[in-house]
Order: sequence, then C-alpha cells, then structure tokens
Amino acid sequence: MRALCVDKDQKSFLSLIDEKRCYEMLREARWPDGQVRCPYCSATDIAGPWRGVHTPESYRYRCRACGRGFNDRTGTVFERSKMPLRAWFLAIYLVELNRSTAEIARELPCDYHTAHRIVWLIREREMHIEAGRKLEGVVEVDEIYQTAGHKGRAPKEESRCLGRPPRRRGKKQGPGRGSAAKDAPALIGMVSRDGKMVLEVAPDVRRESLEPLFEKAVKRGSTIYTDSASCYRFLPQMGYVHDSVNHTRREYARGPVHVNRGEAVWSLWRPFIATFRGIAQRNLHAYARTFQFRRNHRHLTAFGRLNLILSAAMKNASKPFLSLRRWLNSLCSRGIYVPPIPI
Ligand SMILES: [Zn+2]
Repeated sequence: MRALCVDKDQKSFLSLIDEKRCYEMLREARWPDGQVRCPYCSATDIAGPWRGVHTPESYRYRCRACGRGFNDRTGTVFERSKMPLRAWFLAIYLVELNRSTAEIARELPCDYHTAHRIVWLIREREMHIEAGRKLEGVVEVDEIYQTAGHKGRAPKEESRCLGRPPRRRGKKQGPGRGSAAKDAPALIGMVSRDGKMVLEVAPDVRRESLEPLFEKAVKRGSTIYTDSASCYRFLPQMGYVHDSVNHTRREYARGPVHVNRGEAVWSLWRPFIATFRGIAQRNLHAYARTFQFRRNHRHLTAFGRLNLILSAAMKNASKPFLSLRRWLNSLCSRGIYVPPIPI
C-alpha cells in the first residue's frame, strides 16, 4: 500500500499565501462590525488584542466579563488545529474544486488523516449552510439509485448491534428497483424552477420513506412535476399539486410540465461522485448535501464560497473531530439531518 504520509518540507502553493491577510479575513467574517465578542458569553468588554506567542498573525484577547482568554480561532472549526490558517483556506479552495482528500494532503502538505479531518469539517459547514432548505413554486422531482454499500469493519462494541445487515461482497442487485438493502439507495433530486435544489437519500421509494423527505424539503401547496413512476402517486394526498409526463409514450414535455431540469442534475452528480471512487452508504447523505451546496451556490466563485463557509464557521462550530461515526451521530442528535438509513 502507498504510504499515507507525504513530504512536509516540499514546496507548495502555501508559500504564496499571506497568513496575515487570512487572519484579517477571518476577523472580518467573524466580527463584521469590528467589535470583538467573547465566544463564551458574547460580552463586548474585551481586553487586548495581543499577538499570539507562536503565531504572531493571530490575536489573543481576554473577556473582562467572564475572565476567559480566547483567540481569533476560538469557537470556530479552525480551533485547536495546528495547521496554519492559510492551509485551511487552501483546503477550502481545493474542496470547492472537488479535489480528493489524497490530493489535498499532497497540496497542503500534511498527513492524509489530517487532510481527512479538515475536509470533513469543511463539508460539515457546507451541510450546516444547506440544512433546512425548503423549495416552493414549481418543483421537478426525479430519482436514481446510487450504488453505495457498507465499508470497513464495525467497531468491536457495535458488532452485535449494527442496526443493519453486515457487509456483503459481490453482486447484490436483485429484481426490481434499488434499495438500501440491495446496496443501491434511492437519491431523490428536487429542483425548483428558480434553480435551487435539494438532494435527499431514501432507503427505498415506498411512500413511508418518501413522505418525510417531501414534508421537509418542499412547501405544501407547491406544484410537483415527475415522470410517470408510481411511487409519486401519493403526492396530491399530501397537499401538493401533482402532474407527470409519460416517458414510455415518448412524452418528454407537455407545455410547462416536464422534468428535464430534474433529470439534468444526474449528469452533474455522476462525475461529482465518481471522484470519490466508491463511497460508503453511511456517508451518502453527506456527499448529497455537499453536492447540493455547490449547486445552490454555483454562481459564486470558489472565493465567494470560501467567504460563505467562513461566515458559517462561527456558528455552532463542532468540537474537534473524533471519528466519522461519532461525528455523524452528533449531527443526527443536533437535528442537522435525519438519515433514513441506520449508520
Ligand atoms: Zn466572556
């Protein structure tokens, strides 16, 4: 197996990025009005700033109300990270360009596991920005079945209570539509005519699986266009206006009724997900939400999206990364997203 560690002394783009400017940008995003606030008690009576001991570009402060010290990074996703801030910024830029974790580790340069933590914390911020998005008006809906099985081994203490069948190798596709049990969960793409989209993962396309997803993502009373798949017949009972086009009769548009936008999403999704070379089923939600973030902010440059992530880096910043499983569990407990498949 190829070594995961990289030569940390090699020259990289990092040498061209100004650390001082990065900290200035972080302070501007964090305190837009210029007033420094305590991350613990939100007081504005602050002593300082003083320059950091090891990183003179970073400022330290002390809150006169609660007496606690903090710095520019405290309370953000950058907290307790030994990587320079410019490495984080470069990582955000590369994540936005859809680079793989191994490639980002080479560019920073850092260990693969460090890059993995950084990449997932950035994706978690993207998911945080996209949480609670609701579509309205005319919404086109289409579904595909994404191959995503179980990977790795269950931790020892969880081996008896996985809550799902253990990993199976080989061909799992049986007759009929895909499902999580067949290692091909359904992806439901919902695209409104104003260009916003929501991408949800469903264990299968039964009514009880789809109902909560529509409830969460599409406002009641909206018009939904689909193809003639029978799994969408319940929509009028939920209070939506529903119409469909029948592809078997070679009907692809009938006036305003079509799902061309909904179907076009998949031509963008396929190359996006191919970068990651076989993903685990439990991570499919995170990838779907990341894709949703990129599509919904596609008119911004990577720098614009960096600004967006920076402004979100301050709110509910997650604790230092422990393990992917525990992190996903913490997301579920905070209600950021509710996976229909046990992870
Ligand atoms: Zn305080």
